[in-house]
Amino acid sequence: MSVLKACSKLAENNCASFINGKCLGDISCPVFNQVICEGLRCPYFETAVLPADKNLQESYSVEVLKATARHSSKKCKGCGNTFKTDNYRIQYCGDRCRNHGKKKANRIADSKYRQNEKSALIKA
Ligand SMILES: [Zn+2]
Repeated sequence: MSVLKACSKLAENNCASFINGKCLGDISCPVFNQVICEGLRCPYFETAVLPADKNLQESYSVEVLKATARHSSKKCKGCGNTFKTDNYRIQYCGDRCRNHGKKKANRIADSKYRQNEKSALIKA
């Protein structure tokens, strides 16, 4: 049984907020749905339910560490520094680098355009 599956079972059996597959009958429970790795975590489960199973708590924190390492640390495409983000689509550490990257891309497109123009002239 995987760690997340075991957590899901634990939540189902022991979590006081767990009602019919949902948290307080309201929102779907991330623990039960085993989506902890996508950045959704339940503080109540982690502090009140999980400590009942020490072994599972340990494996769970390893899983969370692995998941957060994968999602939150990124290398900026502009300056090369590592920065933290929850958004996997973000490629730059800030606006400055993002604008810089855009300009660079424009310049490359520009010089390509000029080259095409030149070769067109040569052919003609
Ligand atoms: Zn940067």
